[in-house]
Amino acid sequence: MVDHFLQQRQTPAIYRRRIGSFMVTVLSDGYLEADPSFFSGGEEQFADLTAAAFLPRGPFRLGTVVYIVDDGKRRVMVDAGCGPLFGPTSGFLLFNMKYAGVEPESIDAILVTHMHADHIGGLLDEGGAVFPNAEIIMHKAEFDYFMGDLAMSRTTERNRPWLVRARTVPDHYPRMKFFDSEGPVLPGITAVPLTGHTPGHSGFMIESGGDQLFLAADLVYSPVYSFHILDQNFAFDVDADAAIASRKRGLEMIATEKWLMSASHLPFPTLGHVDRREGGTFAFVAEEWRFDP
Ligand SMILES: [Zn+2]
Repeated sequence: MVDHFLQQRQTPAIYRRRIGSFMVTVLSDGYLEADPSFFSGGEEQFADLTAAAFLPRGPFRLGTVVYIVDDGKRRVMVDAGCGPLFGPTSGFLLFNMKYAGVEPESIDAILVTHMHADHIGGLLDEGGAVFPNAEIIMHKAEFDYFMGDLAMSRTTERNRPWLVRARTVPDHYPRMKFFDSEGPVLPGITAVPLTGHTPGHSGFMIESGGDQLFLAADLVYSPVYSFHILDQNFAFDVDADAAIASRKRGLEMIATEKWLMSASHLPFPTLGHVDRREGGTFAFVAEEWRFDP
């Protein structure tokens, strides 16, 4: 394990939530710090939102989580966190998995919401595949975009090494399966494409015994900057207009259906509901911590 796992001073961050016959384990991977200039609404609006949420000025923090969905027969992971790519505040997935009693070798499948480095960085280490027995499942458009010329021509100096690394994933995970529209990908798990953040960005609906949990990936980033600010976005989105449209449509659907939801960068343990607010906007209402049998 990387040294900073051993030097960490926080307790293991693991949250378990039963969804019918599934046990969903939310594992913190730590957090990223992002530059306020990524916000499309400008410095002033960003500063106002930040102050209203009692947060310090400067880089803003985005927690990041990975999920393990276990039905007793199959262990399915959703995304793989940052791995070693984002410095000492992230890459805690393996540390937390150890405390959760989950061996990397026991993961049967990994659903990839999208191929950004903070979601697939943890798939690889110096030795190759971190989850050697896992099949990778993702949207075909996502794979094609990240493996194609367009992504390479658009990438920045900073992101290029991450993209080059992402393209080696198929070398280490020979079993890959693709979907190209909304539909079941595994028993009790349905892919829901949410195009915009990336071309094949996808959420996953977990359903069992009348219970459901919608994993919305990067449809929203933060309760401070995402749910009630619907006309702005962050530079992480590959297609800003499509991402904004997807976000509005997605939040509308989650609020209408009253789904329990989670998104990868919400404050740990990330579960909650979407409530309507005046003016057609929304708010995130966190679910109370539970101790499910
Ligand atoms: Zn992300």
